[in-house]
Amino acid sequence: MKLLVTGGAGFIGSAVVKLALKRGYEVVNLDALTYASCLRSLSDVSDHPAYSFEKADIRDRSKLDQIFAKHKPDAVMHLAAESHVDRSIDGPSAFIETNIVGTFNLLEASKSYWQVSGQPKNFRFHHVSTDEVFGTLGETGMFTETTPYAPNSPYSASKAASDHLVRAWAETYGLPVVLSNCSNNYGPRQFPEKLVPVVILNALAGKEIPIYGNGANIRDWLFVEDHADALLHVLERSALSESYNIGGENEATNLQIVNLICAVLDDLRPAQEPYKEQIRFVRDRPGHDLRYAIDPQKIRNELGWRPSVTLEQGMRRTVEWYLNNQDWWAPLLMRDGAGERLGVSA
Ligand code: NAD
Repeated sequence: MKLLVTGGAGFIGSAVVKLALKRGYEVVNLDALTYASCLRSLSDVSDHPAYSFEKADIRDRSKLDQIFAKHKPDAVMHLAAESHVDRSIDGPSAFIETNIVGTFNLLEASKSYWQVSGQPKNFRFHHVSTDEVFGTLGETGMFTETTPYAPNSPYSASKAASDHLVRAWAETYGLPVVLSNCSNNYGPRQFPEKLVPVVILNALAGKEIPIYGNGANIRDWLFVEDHADALLHVLERSALSESYNIGGENEATNLQIVNLICAVLDDLRPAQEPYKEQIRFVRDRPGHDLRYAIDPQKIRNELGWRPSVTLEQGMRRTVEWYLNNQDWWAPLLMRDGAGERLGVSA
């Protein structure tokens, strides 16, 4: 099976590329290499005989057509996106261009390729999305696959729009699609502007650890390698046009996440004072959703998927990875103002 992964040089995409190669796929990684990418995340597989890389922007339709014609993939897993909520508030246009127009281009290129290939029944376009499309929950309840869309940020609105395009291309043109909406990911190789790496790196540097508002916003956290496994479950086992919510059943407030990271650091790299002394509450993000929680029963019951690690195990592996891989993250702090941003994305 030849899998075309878009955004394979990003945080989740690189985990997908590695896992798919391990499971015997041929993988073509299509990525524009934006500020958020890191090809060094794939240095251990870049010479793999079943791996190839195409530098391409999903906003460039003709380039997409060339790549489809050259590689003839059996399936597409679409992860390429602008992904940082704070950046979407400061500058939404890149989110509209990549997440909406780029997804439209990829759907059109996939449709043309699928049609000229004789509409193979086993072709799949797997669109990877977020639980943020459902908006915010109150103190109770969970997102299911039938929760109405109610996105609140430019990022989540652009992802919601892309989900709708994917659904429409299936209904209107018969393109074989599957969708998944996942909760917050954490793990190795996440760009250092998102909550978990910001906390680890600021703590280690002796800097303030910023938390939005009062830290009470709740997210459902999933280890990135478990998400990659869930995505391959969906790709391989889902019926056409189904969507699956993917979550770790790990609801935690931002403050609890930060305290957990500080406790792991206290254990692995003790400092003079407990790291939690560096916590500072900062002005809240506009339109900050209060709570996300995923009901994962459908993927668990229909596809037999479950996360393999607990939040504590996954966070320990994550902190250990950042402690041992300064050569990965240090150069990224210089990139596009990442080091200066209080990038508390969650
Ligand atoms: P990321 O920002 O780490 O990686 C995105 C990748 O897409 C980068 O390698 C970037 O170079 C590439 N890209 C961006 N614009 C492109 C373009 N125009 N053409 C080609 N490539 C382009 O993102 P991530 O956290 O790995 O997220 C991957 C996908 O998963 C996204 O679609 C995101 O919405 C979704 N998602 C993320 C999370 C999360 O917690 N990170 C949760 C649920 C869903």
